[in-house]
Amino acid sequence: MFAQKMLASSWLLKSGWIFAVLAFSAPLKAEWYSDSAGIMGTNIYVEVWAETPVQGQLALRTVMAEMERINQLMSPYIETSELSMINANAGTKPVAISDEMFELLDKSVKISELTKGAFDITFASVGYLYNYKESERPDEATIASLLDAINYKHIVLNKENKTVSFSNRNVKIDLGGIAKGHAVDNSVSLLQRMGILHGLVTAGGDTRLIGDRRGKPWIVGIRDPRNKEKQAVVMPLQDSAMSTSGDYERYFEEDGQRYHHILSPKTGKSTYEVQSVSIIGPSSTFNDALSTAVFVMGLREGLGMINRIDGYDAVIMDNQRKMHYSNGLQQ
Ligand code: ADP
Ligand code: MG
Repeated sequence: MFAQKMLASSWLLKSGWIFAVLAFSAPLKAEWYSDSAGIMGTNIYVEVWAETPVQGQLALRTVMAEMERINQLMSPYIETSELSMINANAGTKPVAISDEMFELLDKSVKISELTKGAFDITFASVGYLYNYKESERPDEATIASLLDAINYKHIVLNKENKTVSFSNRNVKIDLGGIAKGHAVDNSVSLLQRMGILHGLVTAGGDTRLIGDRRGKPWIVGIRDPRNKEKQAVVMPLQDSAMSTSGDYERYFEEDGQRYHHILSPKTGKSTYEVQSVSIIGPSSTFNDALSTAVFVMGLREGLGMINRIDGYDAVIMDNQRKMHYSNGLQQ
């Protein structure tokens, strides 16, 4: 009893102290708050306009925690992730999965249908044999023996039981082309629920903006695929999002050939029609997946598709370094 009282009063004392320190050391005025971290194998950056330091710090911490949560769920490199568990078991039996995973797999399959198979998370059936850091790639015979496994139609989703199974034992999935967009969308929802009206969340090539930069647009750059110090284009944006896919994020070179991380589901090999694709639209999840898809489809087919999707635009640099813009961006 006495101890409890002591604890309670010391807690009061302490929290009073914390309050006093916050009140005197930090100006209680609205400001920009920002933070960066390395999560999901990429750079995370968040910037918000907050009314108080407490709100600002909470916003930054909320986003970083959300990024880490999704990393633990969807990383192929973490053995205990839900994704790893699916890959280990879904080839032999239906696996019960979370609502969040079910919805993202369902979205991925729908985007495969929309992009005629250019976006396909089963690319990983061959893709997992590439190790860009170690300059490793599968040989022709191995690719040929696994190519049948790349087909989103092998993904069987059962809506009632919330399970996934693969109709081919060699299927592996990877969410590298959509998970960062999903994480950015989730983070933005969390910030909006906290009352943030101006903010930016970036995970690697995926950026989404809340509002504007207080009276001016946000400026989001598309980097030069062959010079990381240079921007190829800058886009003024507000209340929107943009994702970029490039052949420079993860790659190695061998005999003058660039082996990079965006693979054609038809061949199990890197594609070479374009160097960079940016998609601008309201959803980071879709931007992310569509930028990967258009990269695979190439200039003509990819631009044609984006021109047919309402609310989405594209900026493409082809393999001759020529820039191309969708109809919505041509004034
Ligand atoms: P990043 O931001 O990592 O550059 P991208 O949006 O460009 O990501 O997507 C590239 C990632 O998508 C690859 O690292 C891989 O995990 C995955 N991927 C590669 N090819 C495909 C494909 N054809 N369909 C779906 N995902 C793919
Ligand atoms: Mg993408």
